[in-house]
Amino acid sequence: MPNGIPAEVKEAARIARALSHPARLQILNELRDGGAYVMHLTAVLGRPQANISQHLMVLREADLVTAEREGMTVIYHVRNPHVLDVVDQLLVLARERAEAHRMDDVMVGVEELDGLRGKRQRRRKGKCRCPRCREEG
Ligand SMILES: [Zn+2]
Repeated sequence: MPNGIPAEVKEAARIARALSHPARLQILNELRDGGAYVMHLTAVLGRPQANISQHLMVLREADLVTAEREGMTVIYHVRNPHVLDVVDQLLVLARERAEAHRMDDVMVGVEELDGLRGKRQRRRKGKCRCPRCREEG
């Protein structure tokens, strides 16, 4: 990497790389309002636990999330809520871009994502048995 790049900018790029997967954007979204259990993330994202764990590792390595042991399980939290503002702004950009280019196929996906903006998808699939969803159920 060229030497003229300030450390702060390199760090920002490192964060952007960690964000650059749809599953990781979804995971961060689910960590709003008090974090989430791995069990919750697998239920809501519909991905195998091994896959979720890989994405969580990328987010941890970038210092974007923290893991806290809670009895037999682990609950993940965003380390700094500013990352959720970034996720929200990316969703705004995605929607505006799709509208501008009349990308109807993308719009379908974006509308789904847009519904995510600022809120979690708790109990979306109605089958999450994590402690928090059971509590709210
Ligand atoms: Zn849950």
